[in-house]
Amino acid sequence: MDSVFISIGSNRGNRPAICKEAVCRIDSLKSVTVVSKSALYETEPVGLIAQGRFINCVIGLSTGRSPLELLRDLKNIEMELGRVKAKRWGSRLIDLDIIFYGNEAVDVEGLCVPHREAVNRAFVLLPMAEIAGDFIHPRLGLSISELASKVPGTEGVKRYEQE
Ligand code: ADP
Ligand code: MG
Repeated sequence: MDSVFISIGSNRGNRPAICKEAVCRIDSLKSVTVVSKSALYETEPVGLIAQGRFINCVIGLSTGRSPLELLRDLKNIEMELGRVKAKRWGSRLIDLDIIFYGNEAVDVEGLCVPHREAVNRAFVLLPMAEIAGDFIHPRLGLSISELASKVPGTEGVKRYEQE
């Protein structure tokens, strides 16, 4: 499957290094190739606001793993990188979310793709627009660029460094 997109976020520790390490580990997974990477962005936290800014990026994959296999792989990487299971939306070393798995829709216990909140999140849409602005949201029929141009909160999302 091509056009698989993963959102990566960290707001503790050495955030850029942790995000880059996550990209490396994802690329090392069996049957997974990272084919595109956005720049890193620094973004205001959403939800619980009493926490530090995030570093976020989005990567595109080509993979032979199923959506649930990929989720398991990503959770393993989150654990390896030392994510402490804290309160929801609380601070975390690393968060890896599957945003799109091609045009497939998955809605089972523990996995919903396309990711439900992605269309409301400037910190997902802006980085993704950089690498896949023409990708059409399979349910909404709108491109990522269109969605990114309408999403609230873009002023809290700044390019952090070039890839
Ligand atoms: P957040 O919503 O902030 O990403 P977590 O990373 O703690 O919160 O995720 C909570 C649960 O969401 C995970 O255990 C996972 O099973 C589930 N989940 C549902 N859909 C997805 C998805 N598309 N990508 C990643 N996790 C998902
Ligand atoms: Mg998550």
